[in-house]
Amino acid sequence: MRRNLLTLLTALLLLTSIATAALWVRSHRVGELLMHDAFKSDALPYVLTSTWLYLDSGGVGFIRTRSVCSANSPAEAREWFELYFRDHPPGWTRNRHDPWGYPKVNSTAAPAFDHLGVVVSREPWPGMGGQNHPCFRAVVPFWLLVALPAVPALVAARRRWRSRTRLRAGRCVACGYDLRATPGRCPECGKGVLASR
Ligand SMILES: [Zn+2]
Repeated sequence: MRRNLLTLLTALLLLTSIATAALWVRSHRVGELLMHDAFKSDALPYVLTSTWLYLDSGGVGFIRTRSVCSANSPAEAREWFELYFRDHPPGWTRNRHDPWGYPKVNSTAAPAFDHLGVVVSREPWPGMGGQNHPCFRAVVPFWLLVALPAVPALVAARRRWRSRTRLRAGRCVACGYDLRATPGRCPECGKGVLASR
């Protein structure tokens, strides 16, 4: 039972890794952007909150911005937002495009975290009214997303393959000691060959 679960988990991890690798390859050909916009114009402050999730040029990015609109009344704020939403409706939208070269971080501010291609930053975002608004951005390279599920899956597969070949060769599954002369319990590490099967 436990063994079957492990096999299933290993297979799932490998599939996840392969699917992510396919998205990685695709990201160099097609940029994908999932965008959610919501606005609040009933009371001050009038705020547009945008969330972006994008797959582009070898990485996955997440952006969240909160633009405060400098309107003076709810009616004026609504006008602002209507202008903004002329190009696309509020709520979730998905669009595909030629890769834009994301997820390069276009920030003048130093990122808060920048290791192994993972970048987390707070940067100014050109938003409504020609002003810069604070933006949170996180970027993860595809190679890391492919490797994360692949490494434990490959380690488990290798371990399993090694146990099998050792069992078949009459060796201890734990340490590889030759048990043909002393079947049952391994004199080297004390582990029973049958117990580990
Ligand atoms: Zn042993």
